[in-house]
Amino acid sequence: MNHRVAALRERMSQAGLDAMLIAKPENRRYLSGFTGTSANLILTEDQALLFTDFRYLEQASSQCTGWTIVESGSSFVETAGDALAKQSVRSLGFESFDLSFASVESFRTWEHMVEGLRLVPTAKFVESLRMVKDVDEIECIKKAAFIADDTFAYILTVLRPGMTEKDVALELEYQMRLRGASGSSFTTIVASGRRSALPHGVASNKVLESGDFVTMDFGAVYEGYVSDVTRTVCLGQPSTEQRELYNIVLEAQERALDAAAPHMLASELDAAARNFIDAKGYKDAFGHGLGHGIGLEIHEDPRIRLGGEDMLLPGMTITIEPGIYVPQFGGVRIEDDVLLTEQRASVLTSAPKNLICL
Ligand code: ZN
Ligand code: ZN
Repeated sequence: MNHRVAALRERMSQAGLDAMLIAKPENRRYLSGFTGTSANLILTEDQALLFTDFRYLEQASSQCTGWTIVESGSSFVETAGDALAKQSVRSLGFESFDLSFASVESFRTWEHMVEGLRLVPTAKFVESLRMVKDVDEIECIKKAAFIADDTFAYILTVLRPGMTEKDVALELEYQMRLRGASGSSFTTIVASGRRSALPHGVASNKVLESGDFVTMDFGAVYEGYVSDVTRTVCLGQPSTEQRELYNIVLEAQERALDAAAPHMLASELDAAARNFIDAKGYKDAFGHGLGHGIGLEIHEDPRIRLGGEDMLLPGMTITIEPGIYVPQFGGVRIEDDVLLTEQRASVLTSAPKNLICL
C-alpha cells in the first residue's frame, strides 16, 4: 500500500479510530488515484475499500492499485454498513469540514446497523498530509506553472485597448487549454483601470483603455494539480503614482521570496511583505493574506497570513502574492508559486515582473 495510505493509518491510530470514511474528491484522489466523480473510500487498519457505481468499476480497477473495488451505487449506505459490520468497526472518522449535514444524517444509519459503532468528526486529517508534496506532485505543479507562464507570454502579444476584460479571460483560458491544461484552476480574474482595486475582480464587460492597470490572476490544472499566477501590466505609459505603487508591491514580493524558508511560521513570512507595505503607508490597502498552499486544490493549507500558525516545511508549495488596492484609483498584485526546499524557496513561475507597458 502506498505511503499516503500508511501515513493516514498512522494518523487514525493516534486518534483511536478503527476506520475512516473519505468522501472529499481531492482526498479520495490523493489516497486512491481515482479521478472519477463518484466514490467513497473506507480505510481500516488492514482494508482499503473503494465504493463506486457501475459506471466507474473499470476505471477504478485500473487507477486504484491496492484498493478493493466494491460496487455500491445508490445502496452505498447499506453496502458499506455490511462491510463495517464485518470489520466490527467501533469508531469511524469522517471529514467534518466537507460532508453535508444530510450525508452525516444518512451515515447515522450505521450506528444502528453496526453494534457499538459511533461516527467521529475529524478535521483535515488528509489535508494535513497533502500539505507536503512528493516528487510526482511537484512535477505536475511545475508543469501547471509552466503552462501559465507560457500563456502570459502569449497574452502580452495580443493585449490591447479595446478588448474587454472577458475577452482577455477567455483568451487566457483558451491558451492554457491549448498548452495542455485540462482546465483553469479557478475563475480567471481580469480587473482593469479602477476595477484593479478589486482583489477578486472577475472579468467583466469593461473595455480596456489606455492608462489602465490590468491585473490578470489565472492558473492551469495539469493532472489534477494547479498553478496560480498574477501579473499586473500597464496599458500605455504609467503615471508616476502607478509606477510607485507597482514598485512597492514588487519589492514587497521580492522581500517575501527572499525571506521564504522552511521551519518559519506562516505569519513570519506574511510579515516580510506586510511590514514593508505598512511602512510605505499602505497599511489598510493589503487586506488579504500573503499566500496559500496549492496542490489538488487552489486554496490549501498552509495559509500564509497575519497570525498564521502553520509551520512552513520543505516540500510545501505555496503562493506569494502581496497586493495594494486603492479604491477609485486601481491596484497591483504580483503572485508567484514557490516550492520550499530544505535550503530555500525555489520559484516555480517565471513570468517577467518588471512593469510591462503595452
Ligand atoms: Zn491567484
Ligand atoms: Zn493565489
